[in-house]
Amino acid sequence: MTAKIIDGKALAARIREELKKKVERLKTAGIFPGLAVILAGDDQASKIYVRNKQRVCAELGIKSWKYQLPEDVAQEDLAELVKKLNADPEVSGVLVQLPLPAHLDSAAVLNAVAPAKDVDGFHPKNLGLLTAGRPAVIPCTPAGVLELVRETGVDITGKECVVVGRSNIVGKPLCLLLLQEHGTVTVCHSRTRNLDEVCRRADILVAAAGRPGLVHGGMIKTGAVVIDVGINKNEQGKLVGDVDFVSAVQKAGAITPVPGGVGPMTIAMLMKNTVAAAENGNLRKPQR
Ligand code: NAD
Repeated sequence: MTAKIIDGKALAARIREELKKKVERLKTAGIFPGLAVILAGDDQASKIYVRNKQRVCAELGIKSWKYQLPEDVAQEDLAELVKKLNADPEVSGVLVQLPLPAHLDSAAVLNAVAPAKDVDGFHPKNLGLLTAGRPAVIPCTPAGVLELVRETGVDITGKECVVVGRSNIVGKPLCLLLLQEHGTVTVCHSRTRNLDEVCRRADILVAAAGRPGLVHGGMIKTGAVVIDVGINKNEQGKLVGDVDFVSAVQKAGAITPVPGGVGPMTIAMLMKNTVAAAENGNLRKPQR
């Protein structure tokens, strides 16, 4: 069997188009979504991610601000900036680009973002609400994965879902989302025994480990939906996922490519969260 390729790029473009129309409507009603992004230090990948996020904001008519801070920024100065942005009525979303330089306490910074402006969905309050099955800001990458699974038309109810990776930003929240959709969820991590065997049980298999080629065709049940979250560079410097695409495409029923799968969906979901934050906060442009 050769899998259907799930086109994350096309799905993300459709979502952005809808959001663009929504932003126009909101603006007519006096609600102006705006995203403030804080970038500390010189991490090249982070710079590219921030640039992409701002580019998509511009495409959708969402105002964005970038706060570039030095690598050695003090914790208090960063906290002060977050506090200022929390209070700014023009700012509907505050995003702190991760990873932060090692001397900073990331958890404390994420805690400082106002939950209503936490468009990444990383604040403990939002993660707690998600765990309790109550309305919450959903972290962007897991939200994007869910949309990609829905795009296949496969009903998650009762399905064996295996998530490889248990990070706070991808694996764990994704498990909660799949549970909410009535999947039977197994989470694997670096100490899981018999990973191959566990993965082979999956009707829906998500790889989010950051290990190129970790999941190969021999670990995939025939016809399974395979979502590849990984973003890695191989020895040739080429962008690859966690799934060995060549062998996996022969076994899966549907599969996301890297690039062009989860990546564009993550940004689309960030835009969705930013627009929702503006809507929920009913932010109006201050009279100046
Ligand atoms: P992380 O390093 O925080 O977590 C990795 C997880 O994978 C851990 O829970 C670890 O236990 C597990 N793991 C590592 N090696 C394993 C192995 N051999 N077998 C089983 N489990 C193993 O990473 P993260 O932030 O969750 O990101 C995971 C991957 O997803 C990375 O490649 C990252 O770049 C990518 N990512 C992509 C997007 C996107 O938009 N496409 C967004 C976020 C992260």
